Amino acid sequence: MKKALLFILILSVLSCKQDESAKIKDVFEPLAPQSVQLTGYLDDCIKNSMEHWNKGALPYDRFVDFFRNGRPQFALGEMWGKSVRSGCMFYRYLPDPELKKIMEATVQDLLSTQRANGSISCVEIDKQPEQSELWERKYVMLGLEEYYEWVNPDPAVLDALKKQADNIISIIGHEPKTEITDVGWSATNIGHEPCHIESSTLLEPFMRLYQWTGERRYLDFATYIYQMGGTKHYNVFEMALNNVEPYQMAGHYPKAYEMTSLYEGLVEYYRVTADSTVKQIILNYFHNVLTKEITIIGNGGCDYPYHPYVAGEAWGNTAIEQANPNITRMMETCTGVTWMKFCSQVLRLTGDPAAADAIEKYIYNGLIGAMKPSGDGFSYVNLLNGQKVNGHGWGWMFDSLHVTCCNLNGPMGLAYIPFIAVMNSNRGPVVNLYNAGTVNMQSPRNNALQLQIETDYPLSGNILIRVKPAKKERFTVQLRIPAWSDNTVVKVNG
Ligand SMILES: [Zn+2]
Repeated sequence: MKKALLFILILSVLSCKQDESAKIKDVFEPLAPQSVQLTGYLDDCIKNSMEHWNKGALPYDRFVDFFRNGRPQFALGEMWGKSVRSGCMFYRYLPDPELKKIMEATVQDLLSTQRANGSISCVEIDKQPEQSELWERKYVMLGLEEYYEWVNPDPAVLDALKKQADNIISIIGHEPKTEITDVGWSATNIGHEPCHIESSTLLEPFMRLYQWTGERRYLDFATYIYQMGGTKHYNVFEMALNNVEPYQMAGHYPKAYEMTSLYEGLVEYYRVTADSTVKQIILNYFHNVLTKEITIIGNGGCDYPYHPYVAGEAWGNTAIEQANPNITRMMETCTGVTWMKFCSQVLRLTGDPAAADAIEKYIYNGLIGAMKPSGDGFSYVNLLNGQKVNGHGWGWMFDSLHVTCCNLNGPMGLAYIPFIAVMNSNRGPVVNLYNAGTVNMQSPRNNALQLQIETDYPLSGNILIRVKPAKKERFTVQLRIPAWSDNTVVKVNG
């Protein structure tokens, strides 16, 4: 199928006044919670994951126990934040009361583990900071932030976030504190010189906290992270500015997932600082990953030939190497979901439809392809050189349930689909993904506006969009023309 046929009713065209805010205003803005109700295939996948994973299999209480009693393996403290993060994004889409109860109970349970120095950490105070601790604390902060933003703006949660952040600021920084790039496990865990890119991913939760509180110390800490360059020996921001290819960034350890997570935080940093160099760094990274790393199924990263010791999780010139017969692991779901989320940030920032094209390619191929039909997990996808991948990887057994990084991140990718599908702009609605469903939103003049999208896309390329404004008004409806479509037709009222 190479043809998308779009039928649409567009009322008319008129641009509206731009917000004069000093901060960077997104070109496309996400809609309010519960604005989008999808129907059909992707909605089924979302509900399957929500029921059988976030409301089903996940042992939240045992994730919290890692903070209360310590954890038996490095990085296991990431599990709580990852599971709550996707649960709260699912709740943003579908306000399920049972899911809310689960989220509320586990957040209260986690808050009860906050230590005397303000840390919510798997590590006892006198041993902080320890190698994987900052990465785990990043996910604690992101889990609490998603909860505060989408489920319950409980002041106790904001207070806990501030205490966690203030404690990190008190121990991490220039001498006599510990530098952020001296805390981490990569790549000493595989016998190489330290990289430690994971700790700097605290950039995102610190910027979100700054945007809510306006308290300068959080922005200052974000600036510190940015100035430290992300890793022990390489400045991955300068490297992107100089268009170093992703597989050569961070030297021996260009870990795709962690690096892209760091860049998600950099977008939040740009929104506040409006630094044009930062924007260029973001756009260079986006275009270089898109063209050099993303495979035919929309994900990236591999082991051979460049980084065989990074378990298939490094940038590896994957777009070129994707069918290399020597590859044994590639395309971690964590990488794909984080790439998808980073693309959504680029889409919001620039309106570039290439970002939505990348998201669409990943959703229908890499993401759904890695999901268990039973909804209770994700894995690596099969290799593109013909080998079936094994299910082994980093994680932990909880009785008979194997929880891994990837099956914790997969649901977040699903939860992002309705978040991305339709956005708003100062000119009117923006349709990024063509899924059947109903969208209730506001027009540029703040009148109620409904879009009804009727389609079996992508089985066929026929899409009917009914545009139903509550009041007569002139505005634009923006439609992404899929990059793969050779022949696109738009008809208005026939
Ligand atoms: Zn993973």
